[in-house]
Amino acid sequence: LTEKDIIIIGGGPIGIACALECKKRNWNYVVIEKGTLANSLFNYPKNMTFFSTSEKLEIDNIPFISNNPKPNRDEALEYYRRVTTSNNLNINLYETVININKTAQTFQVKTSKRQYTAKHVIICTGFYDIPKLLNVAGENLNKVTHYYKEAHNYTLQDVVVVGASNSAVDAALEIWRKGGRVTMVVRGENIGERVKYWVRPDIINRIEEGSIKAYFNSEIKEITPNSVTVKTPKGLVTLLNDYVIALTGYLPDFNLLKNSGITMTDDEKQIPIYNNDTMESNIENLYLAGVICGGKETHKWFIENSRIHAKRIAKHIETKLNLSN
Ligand code: FAD
Repeated sequence: LTEKDIIIIGGGPIGIACALECKKRNWNYVVIEKGTLANSLFNYPKNMTFFSTSEKLEIDNIPFISNNPKPNRDEALEYYRRVTTSNNLNINLYETVININKTAQTFQVKTSKRQYTAKHVIICTGFYDIPKLLNVAGENLNKVTHYYKEAHNYTLQDVVVVGASNSAVDAALEIWRKGGRVTMVVRGENIGERVKYWVRPDIINRIEEGSIKAYFNSEIKEITPNSVTVKTPKGLVTLLNDYVIALTGYLPDFNLLKNSGITMTDDEKQIPIYNNDTMESNIENLYLAGVICGGKETHKWFIENSRIHAKRIAKHIETKLNLSN
């Protein structure tokens, strides 16, 4: 049994920010991360560029230097890696938290590797692990993916990209530029409003000139090894197809929250309950930080506007510790 004052679940940017606050105060803490460091960022497309400028991705004012106004994935990985190693942060990688149980005074945290007790727990598990499924026949075929990495393997292939958000638009443009034949299948009537303002005209023009095909107000009905059937306003259309890239969003893992006793709003959004000033959930000494705070509204919080959560939590814990001394 390992005893800690604070356990931070998730080693993404916000988990790392929380670890820095603990380290500054000499608290006995550990970050438990189920994958590699900054696992979500590691799984982002190879050539993705952040919409934030680098200083807005900085944690604890440690400079993030990039030659470009907006950094890319590799630079962000370099940054969060260096922040972690240079500050000797305590992080256990490739260890999954299975459940958090509150007993009288402490939390019992069970992981894939061991059992811990902790006085405080911070959950910052993000949202990039569970894709929203299309729920159509053929979705389990090998040619279907919910994560886009790079374009090269799609060259000279018939590719359907599902969705019209930033991820879908970036993938469609990149694959078309690398010689793939791209068709977008979009449930709404337009390219998403939140698509980066400098990318939106690019995709709209490619669609208007016919370089990239797009079916709006449409959805996939069936996927077979060499075709895709799309329900369009004009009826069913069957397309020759080699690959389907479904970028229709992701969901946070609500089970960990529910099992630890955290309540969620009972509407569509399932927003976990927490105090906005302290980030403490409805369970005393159990905190939430980062993108998980938005429930199903996964676009509400991001690095830029949620890095502050780490400081709020540390201040609250500090105040409580001072009161009890
Ligand atoms: P995450 O980075 O998702 O980290 C959560 C971590 O928890 C993961 O490493 C995961 O493996 C781990 N974890 C999950 N469950 C468990 C468990 N049970 N046990 C142990 N570990 C667990 N934000 C910006 O501010 N600016 C941008 O420009 C920007 N661009 C983006 C571009 C794309 C393509 C995407 C998808 C997102 C972008 N974001 C951007 C959003 C930003 O990346 C996320 O908001 C950010 O990663 C949130 O950080 P986090 O630490 O809360 O969660």
